[in-house]
Amino acid sequence: MALIVKKFGGTSVGNPERIRNVAARIQRTREAGHHVVAVVSAMSGVTDGLIKLAREVNSNPNEREMDVLLATGEQTTIALTAMALQALGQKAVSLTGAQAGIVTDGVHTKAKIANITPKRVHELLAAGHVVIVAGFQGANSEGAITTLGRGGSDLTAIALAAALKADLCEIYTDVDGVYTADPRIVKGARKLDEISYDEMLELASLGAKVMQSRSVEFAKKFKVPFSVRSSMNDNPGTLVKEETRKMEDVVIRGISVDKNQAKINIPKVPDRPGIAARLFKALAAVHLNVDMIVQNASTEGFTDISFTVGKDDLAKARHVIEPIAKEMGAGAVADYQKIAKLSLVGIGMRSHSGVAADLFEALAENQVNIQMISTSEIKISVIIDAADADRAMNAAHAKFGLGIS
Ligand code: ADP
Ligand code: ASP
Ligand code: MG
Repeated sequence: MALIVKKFGGTSVGNPERIRNVAARIQRTREAGHHVVAVVSAMSGVTDGLIKLAREVNSNPNEREMDVLLATGEQTTIALTAMALQALGQKAVSLTGAQAGIVTDGVHTKAKIANITPKRVHELLAAGHVVIVAGFQGANSEGAITTLGRGGSDLTAIALAAALKADLCEIYTDVDGVYTADPRIVKGARKLDEISYDEMLELASLGAKVMQSRSVEFAKKFKVPFSVRSSMNDNPGTLVKEETRKMEDVVIRGISVDKNQAKINIPKVPDRPGIAARLFKALAAVHLNVDMIVQNASTEGFTDISFTVGKDDLAKARHVIEPIAKEMGAGAVADYQKIAKLSLVGIGMRSHSGVAADLFEALAENQVNIQMISTSEIKISVIIDAADADRAMNAAHAKFGLGIS
């Protein structure tokens, strides 16, 4: 008898029929003699709808109240899933994040899990129940409801699998697994049988929405292998696990695109020591994550500095940068929101050369202009025009032969 954690995302529980389908899947596992803890997301569109509602009553909603509101999405689904299981004659109990023992820090809307004491989960499993846990939520040490950042149900599932020492963790979603690129954008994308934590982490942080990046970080840290698979069929999915020797033979594992970036340009910055430190220290002081940075060659003692931030952080970044730029005597700060970051990821890049050259060639052949470049050991990213993103993704996918197994 194994203990299996199964997570079902928004589309998989998107309507009553799908919830009944999820219940039937859980029941099959239960009938095969296994214990099941199911983590469920809000029905698709519900979290977005709640955020919209909040903004209609307050343009800058309080984050504590936001968490109280957002947590209701998952709370609806746990009750409905438990009811669907009960309709099949299956013993099932729903638990909120707090009831499942998930304690977080106090950073509302993007809380980190501090610890999990799943006493109640163990008791209910021992009594023969399927336990349905609300994803994406916990409570801080004072008992206030917190949420774990968008896509956070993935994190709930992986953290619970670690805390419960589960034998298996399965992430059920609306695609068959992790693909070489988003199958909605690249028609010839190929499903991967396996991928290393590091590659999955890069793809997720660089825009592949299939897994929340923090959940992959957690899985890597606590060595929780998991599979990503479809809730609509029985295909085997993709195994995400520790890297093996053989994995390095593949140069590029996958491609992702992030359309949520914005570029800020500060023209005519005096070119002298300490200027960059001043700008980026100010951004760090307000916890702003800066991604790519480019400083142009100096002409007559002046240079241009450009950098990217998440679109959500753009207003905050401008607010910090503008007074400093003014004080330095730089030109007017400008921003560009119609950009995209295209990234190639693969641990094989450590031992292969020429990847950048091939990527640039593929982009050139398709008249895609490169605005910024950054590389690390296992990835290369370029900033391009948002309008070119899907074309560039398809071009790079073809250039590296990713569709062919
Ligand atoms: P869930 O609601 O189950 O959490 P998400 O919508 O968060 O599902 O993630 C699944 C989606 O991720 C897919 O529908 C797909 O369009 C997208 N996606 C992006 N990149 C990839 C990729 N490399 N492989 C698979 N899916 C991807
Ligand atoms: N419902 C939350 C969201 O839409 C969490 C999740 O689905 O994982 O972000
Ligand atoms: Mg998701």
